[in-house]
Amino acid sequence: MTRKKIVAGNWKMNLQLNDAIQLIDDIVSNSKDLSGVELMVFPPALFLLEIAKIKNELTVGVQNFYPKESGAFTGEISITQIKNCGASHVLIGHSERREIFHESEELIKQKVDAAILHEIGVVFCCGEPLHIRENESQSSYVKQQLIDSLFHLSDAEIQTCVIAYEPIWAIGTGRTATVDQAEEMHSAIRSWITEFYGIEIANSISILYGGSCNASNAKELFTCQNVDGGLIGGASLQAESFITIARSF
Ligand code: PEP
Repeated sequence: MTRKKIVAGNWKMNLQLNDAIQLIDDIVSNSKDLSGVELMVFPPALFLLEIAKIKNELTVGVQNFYPKESGAFTGEISITQIKNCGASHVLIGHSERREIFHESEELIKQKVDAAILHEIGVVFCCGEPLHIRENESQSSYVKQQLIDSLFHLSDAEIQTCVIAYEPIWAIGTGRTATVDQAEEMHSAIRSWITEFYGIEIANSISILYGGSCNASNAKELFTCQNVDGGLIGGASLQAESFITIARSF
């Protein structure tokens, strides 16, 4: 079973509009000959309309939304609004949303359900903090995140999702998981999908690695049997490193 290879850029709260337009222009023009890899970008939502105009073959998503269609939720953007402005995917469960903005498993589950209802693709982020890795309970920790917010989906629904494993101690720290650590968790995630949905569905779902993945280490990480690509933060802010990562399969 061949799974989709995906390289996704999480731009976080970086760049001004001109920089973002330049970046997407550079990614589009330098990726024309790239085949067999889906490129996704998650710009700041404010830039969505402009980015969607020039995205060409790229998949564009947003980093956050509120899981209601409309109403009195000052400062929030809805799932229908982001769809209306050109997003086809959303990041859900990113550790920065969980930790800085105290998003609960319940809110994350509501976001998953809202995205599925509106046929928006989910990139579901999971991963353990350092103290959990240090006491070697990362497997049960990550499995519980998946059970709490993702594994309630039906067979058809889960197949529209991508999972990103992002050990928190590796995000933005320059410390990457070793190939063995990445493969161990990715194969565990696939075995849990098998437990809930069967082997065929498990083999069809792309599982991305995130956490200081860059142009120098992507090749090694992408050799892992169960690593189907990367969710890239810092190294997605330059077209050259982002494209080098995308050419690392
Ligand atoms: C991320 O935040 O999703 C991420 C992977 O960041 P970085 O690549 O900068 O570690």
